[in-house]
Amino acid sequence: MLTAAVWGGAGEHGRSCYLIECGGVSVLLDCGVKKTGIGEYPLFDRSKVSSLSTVFLSHAHEDHSMAIPMLYRMGYEGEVWTTRATLNQLPAYYEAWEKQVRSKGGVLPYEKTDRERVRYRCMEESAAAGTWFETAPGIRVCWGPSGHLAGSIWLLIEMGGQRVFYSGDYCGESSLLQANLPSGSDLEDISLAIVDAAYGSRPEVQEQELQRLLGTISEVSDRGGHVLLPVPVYGRGQELLPIIAASLPEIPIVCEETLLHGFRELAAFQDWLKPGALERTRQAIRSVATFVADAEGVQAALAGPPSIFFAPDGLLQTSIARQYYRALSEDPRHAILFTGHLYEGSFGAKVWRKHNGMDKTGAATLFGCEVQRFRYKVHQGLPDVRRMLERIRPLQTLLVHADKGETDLLAARLVEEGFTGLHSLVPGKQLLVV
Ligand SMILES: [Zn+2]
Ligand SMILES: [Zn+2]
Repeated sequence: MLTAAVWGGAGEHGRSCYLIECGGVSVLLDCGVKKTGIGEYPLFDRSKVSSLSTVFLSHAHEDHSMAIPMLYRMGYEGEVWTTRATLNQLPAYYEAWEKQVRSKGGVLPYEKTDRERVRYRCMEESAAAGTWFETAPGIRVCWGPSGHLAGSIWLLIEMGGQRVFYSGDYCGESSLLQANLPSGSDLEDISLAIVDAAYGSRPEVQEQELQRLLGTISEVSDRGGHVLLPVPVYGRGQELLPIIAASLPEIPIVCEETLLHGFRELAAFQDWLKPGALERTRQAIRSVATFVADAEGVQAALAGPPSIFFAPDGLLQTSIARQYYRALSEDPRHAILFTGHLYEGSFGAKVWRKHNGMDKTGAATLFGCEVQRFRYKVHQGLPDVRRMLERIRPLQTLLVHADKGETDLLAARLVEEGFTGLHSLVPGKQLLVV
């Protein structure tokens, strides 16, 4: 019997955590937090934690990683299999998460000593991508790059005679990062697939959204305004900077120095990059007009010609990001363009609402600068999930990483197209696969 229990991450955005049991062995796929307020953690079944055969971590993001020390607090003593690049990024995420929890008056549900007890193992040091190896007695695994972040992976796991595919967070449309999928006989008889469907039934492909973003940046610049692009330190910023620099070379780019950390990270883990990607990032860095490191630098750059500002905080929560906001917010020539998920309760979500209100008649009440949302894709929507299922052909599929309503809509669309065995669950639910 193969079962999959959702401890978090299905029917919601955050705290990804799936327990797979089959033939007397069990694995946990990711163990993250939901980044709302002081955080929501997976719905652990404590009686199952200490007997886990092994744990896999698909990538460093908080919503997949930040609850791992809780496992050790609950008695798990085994290993956590991940990649060297992920391991390199984790300390920064632990630090940022602890800071956020403290700033909201909360406390972490684990101690530093629990963090130190985590026994990480690196997949690539045991087996190259695409090759099978044993991570624990009765658990064989094969992995590959998922194109979401340096070090992010998909997993194909064999346990109790069944095969389970976990996409991790997956993006086949990254401009910099490689992504692939299992191939050949590895694709045979996959019983269960847990598939990133974070964008629900949305149909966009990367190129369309990028053209819309580039068009808006040109318009703002033509009318004499600055463009603010709030991006995380690692991820979208490193993807967008080379594209924007190459497409709009006439508009000066001002970049916060901390974004260079993300570029250094990519250079240190070149194995995860597409051919030529490193050179494109180097060219992009050379084309930046100004790097700013402090409030005075920001002030001086804002007084300069219409520019594109890369601020290293996707939700505008840090004090330096808010300095940009204060400087730009009241002048309708300027624009703030969000490109990622706006978490409920974040400053970014408040800004979005404040500038895109409606009066009683439903008419837009525009306030101050233009604020728009775009989607630079780092996950999957309808066309991507469709393509993945056509390739993997699993018996059963659990669609994850989006709200229940959005997941239901996507499942309904895929059923109309003839796909079968689709499941939209919520945390606390369990799926009996075979
Ligand atoms: Zn992620
Ligand atoms: Zn995620």
